[in-house]
Amino acid sequence: DGIGPEVLAEARKVLDAVDQRFGLGLSWDEALLGGAAIDATGHPLPPETLEKAKASGAILFGAIGGPQWDTLDRAIRPEKGLLGLRSEMQLFGNLRPALLYPQLAAASSLKPEIVAGLDILIVRELTGGIYFGEPRGIEERNGERVGFNTYIYSESEVRRIGRLAFELAAKRNGRLCSVDKANVLEATVLWREVMEELAPEYPQVELSHMYVDNAAMQLVRAPKQFDVLVTGNMFGDILSDAAAMLTGSIGMLPSAALNQSGFGMYEPCHGSAPDIAGQGKANPLAMILSAAMMLRYSFDCAEAADAIEAAVGVVLDQGLRTADIVADGDVAVSTSEMGDAVVKALAS
Ligand code: NAD
Repeated sequence: DGIGPEVLAEARKVLDAVDQRFGLGLSWDEALLGGAAIDATGHPLPPETLEKAKASGAILFGAIGGPQWDTLDRAIRPEKGLLGLRSEMQLFGNLRPALLYPQLAAASSLKPEIVAGLDILIVRELTGGIYFGEPRGIEERNGERVGFNTYIYSESEVRRIGRLAFELAAKRNGRLCSVDKANVLEATVLWREVMEELAPEYPQVELSHMYVDNAAMQLVRAPKQFDVLVTGNMFGDILSDAAAMLTGSIGMLPSAALNQSGFGMYEPCHGSAPDIAGQGKANPLAMILSAAMMLRYSFDCAEAADAIEAAVGVVLDQGLRTADIVADGDVAVSTSEMGDAVVKALAS
């Protein structure tokens, strides 16, 4: 929906170019989700889309939503399609990199020297914790309403996300910080115990622990101290948005959601941006970088992923900027001009 198809078209151009250059043998299928699917079929997640997703090696996803669907019944809103796809594919591990290209250091709300070269990966548990825990609700007790939720994790859920985070840290700089609130919440005492139990299996990774309040403070004080952060659903939701903003523009940030077998869905962190849809103003780089993540994590093509990330660096060096990141002295380009420039940089 919205800018989704526009940015996806650019990612596809870039993937076709690396496919040719590296002989990856990628093949594509397309399917509708969200508002576009509602308009065409009446369902935000049509069975045909789910079938195609299950038959594929990875999903590259644009964005869903828009004001024209906001008045529909909650059960058939666009976001039901996205949540349904995530839960059907059991995508429990959310990878949210916060990477600041040095060329964009001035776009951050923090001082350039604090953020230039920032490269953090936040690994958030996505299908458990307080967002899903039972019992939950609002009810009358002793003459007043009370609202309640349950913060719950089983050790197998923690082990699953823990292993993913250790493996990712091993492929990066080997430092993993597990974020919890073990001074107050028993559920996170267990979280910390399970992380400690896993640590001996990954001797190449240095494990540390941090309380979530301190982690929030450290993220804005000295974010470059982190390599990989792993945390539960709610803490990850909040910390990953804070980390995202360190990088200046939401139009630059990719993400991935993985399941146990390495199957993943890759999408930009932004939404469908109805305010700029159809105007050629959207920044396609978050979508293009999501495609690079797909090559790296689902298809094990690190070389092609590196090439895409390097090409993005080249176009930024050339001063090319979409409207969301443009500053004095830069060259303002449209969505498709940005995609074309990345393709050109890949060829050089
Ligand atoms: P949004 O991310 O769509 O837009 C927020 C702001 O950032 C807007 O000003 C937009 O113009 C700008 N922006 C976003 N992506 C951009 C890009 N690539 N290039 C340049 N500017 C960009 O968030 P929102 O406005 O809160 O939500 C709009 C719609 O998107 C809603 O219907 C919402 O439900 C949906 N949404 C979908 C997803 C998803 O598909 N994963 C995520 C968030 C929001």
